[in-house]
Amino acid sequence: MTRAENPALERLRITLRGAVQGVGFRPFVYRLATELSLTGWVLNSSAGLVVEVEGPPDQLARFEERLERERPKASVVTVRESARIETQGSTRFEILSSDADSGKTVNVLPDLATCADCRAELFDPANRRFQYPFTNCTNCGPRYTIVVDIPYDRPNTTMREFVLCPACREEYENPANRRFHAQPNACPVCGPKLDGTIQDAAQALRRGEIVALKGIGGFQLLVDARRAAAVARLRQRKHREEKPFALMMPSLEVAREYCDISPAEVELLESQAAPIVLVKPKNATDLAWNVAHCSPYLGVMLPYSPLHHLLMQECRFPLIATSGNRSDEPIAVANDEATTRLKDIADRFLMHNRPIVRACDDSVVRLTRGRAGILRRARGYAPLGIRVRHSLPPVLAVGGHLKNTVAIAVGQDVFLSQHIGDLDTLEARGAFERAIADLCRLYSFKPEAVACDLHPDYASTHWAERSGLPIVRMQHHQAHVAACAAENDVEGEYLGVSWDGTGYGLDGAIWGGEFFRGEGNRFERIAHLRPFGLPGGDAAVREGWRSAASLLFEACGPEAADPRVRLMLERSINVVPTTSVGRLFDAVASITGVAQQNRFEGQAAMLLENEIGPLRTEEAYPLSGGDWGPLSQAVVADKRAGVSVPLIAARFHNALVAWILEVAAQVGLKQVVLSGGVFQNRYLTERAAAALESRGFTVYTHQRVPPNDGGIALGQAVMARL
Ligand code: ZN
Ligand code: ZN
Ligand code: FE
Repeated sequence: MTRAENPALERLRITLRGAVQGVGFRPFVYRLATELSLTGWVLNSSAGLVVEVEGPPDQLARFEERLERERPKASVVTVRESARIETQGSTRFEILSSDADSGKTVNVLPDLATCADCRAELFDPANRRFQYPFTNCTNCGPRYTIVVDIPYDRPNTTMREFVLCPACREEYENPANRRFHAQPNACPVCGPKLDGTIQDAAQALRRGEIVALKGIGGFQLLVDARRAAAVARLRQRKHREEKPFALMMPSLEVAREYCDISPAEVELLESQAAPIVLVKPKNATDLAWNVAHCSPYLGVMLPYSPLHHLLMQECRFPLIATSGNRSDEPIAVANDEATTRLKDIADRFLMHNRPIVRACDDSVVRLTRGRAGILRRARGYAPLGIRVRHSLPPVLAVGGHLKNTVAIAVGQDVFLSQHIGDLDTLEARGAFERAIADLCRLYSFKPEAVACDLHPDYASTHWAERSGLPIVRMQHHQAHVAACAAENDVEGEYLGVSWDGTGYGLDGAIWGGEFFRGEGNRFERIAHLRPFGLPGGDAAVREGWRSAASLLFEACGPEAADPRVRLMLERSINVVPTTSVGRLFDAVASITGVAQQNRFEGQAAMLLENEIGPLRTEEAYPLSGGDWGPLSQAVVADKRAGVSVPLIAARFHNALVAWILEVAAQVGLKQVVLSGGVFQNRYLTERAAAALESRGFTVYTHQRVPPNDGGIALGQAVMARL
């Protein structure tokens, strides 16, 4: 039906907010409107994507329906408003240029992995971008790591240094082209260039050398994952003892030779975020033993930039791909910074001249309960917002101390920074301060208050105290469950189970095995692990045998405790009380001989979980009321009787599940929220969720933010509501 036959025209104004910039949304709208013979315009404003379409009502309805159904894959629409306005008799559909007004509330998009079209061109000798390491289009390429300011337009990115050649400009200006307004559009003539060759880097890797590669969110250190000596050299130079390394695989086919990968994991690996996915390694491969030691998982990713694709085509073997830093320091991003900081680690550099604005590590994801759960949130996900139920005051949340992230609350959106890391070093604290300044500037955000942890000695707390802003101090474990409740949009009262290694309690003790009755930002602590003493305080975090000594001292008598701390325990000198389930894991791992130490956070607990393997049993140790006494005695008796470690580990995990069920039944709230670093344990999380669900509870676990302290900032932000 043409317009001439139907004078009853209508005009709609549609506003979309969310991740709608830099994903090819405008050309999509243009094509759709043109196809449906509608007139009007589309505009990328800093308040969102605004569309006005005019035409017959049935065509408008079709437009609205297809706008939702066919929108670009990478887009995320969080708000959609549609209003009928007066017709204007427009005669064509056009793309208006971006306005630069105030009120920046449009999401900045994360970096997107190279799309299939760009990949095909990369390996097509007839294409003008054949083997060009910086090719991209509106469906893929860097975003967050190159954007200096919003709205997301080329002059606001680090691509402003590169002047488009005529061929690239024609693509950039043609709404029908895949590269229409692709801000990082580039080609070998006009775009960024490599400093060095891929062939030389590949050669060095084949020789077992360590190569520092400038990636998307910073430098990565690469080494042949099949050579134990090379891997050991990287560990020694990076000061990283046993923490597992992630691998970049040349292809999904090769990844399958090394790991068992489920269809859902394939989907994650091939997603636009292209994270590190934790998968089950196969036995008896040619991987070096020291890549992941005895970790139950292998972190695997696929090439996600054209440079990676080209390098992996040369190296058809798995590479360790780890952040370009010394342990506990932030990832290096600038060329001169990298050559200084990484000169003692890397044997060779492969750099280029496209600047990186902000550091963004590779993200880590694992399937839990059949769903993707982010364990480290950075490249590919940051800085996507989490939409929350209630409008929040403009608060800056500075997170915890370990695995730090920061967040800002803008109305109903909480924008979380990328993973910053542990705030132990001066460098890390510098990165933390830069992330705060950066997030505030990007969103023109002026915080009116700062939310921090209750812990008086966290570097983030110290920063909050110096900020000059009003401070609100949030209890660590409350922030954990608040984060989980927020990302799952939980309404009404719930039972919050908050278990981790360490957090400052309201009574000054070290908490970590807490149950709360929660609603909004009100929390009542209703149960917790029976407290026990940590001999040597903080030393027990690294040395799990200390927690074991304490439990044995109480449950089995002083002579059962390790003599190194017996006197301490007898006299209660330097013994710090805790209710931490993380430390309980350490203790059981120590008593069973699985691990005496944590060489990285959560190592002993991870090893204990790994012991269970394929074993399935319903047997559980007694842990009623969170009293670890009978449990400790039972573990010791089983160990003496020669019960297998896998069975002990399973009975221990099942005891924790049973305790959660016991409390849930007592409290009677139908909604249960599981949060805290302990719930990175897949066996525990899945068993607990299944057991609760089978009894009619609704269970919420983390997906978009980590259960560990990387999620604390979100919890702090939403708790600042009143
Ligand atoms: Zn592409
Ligand atoms: Zn060009
Ligand atoms: Fe925590």
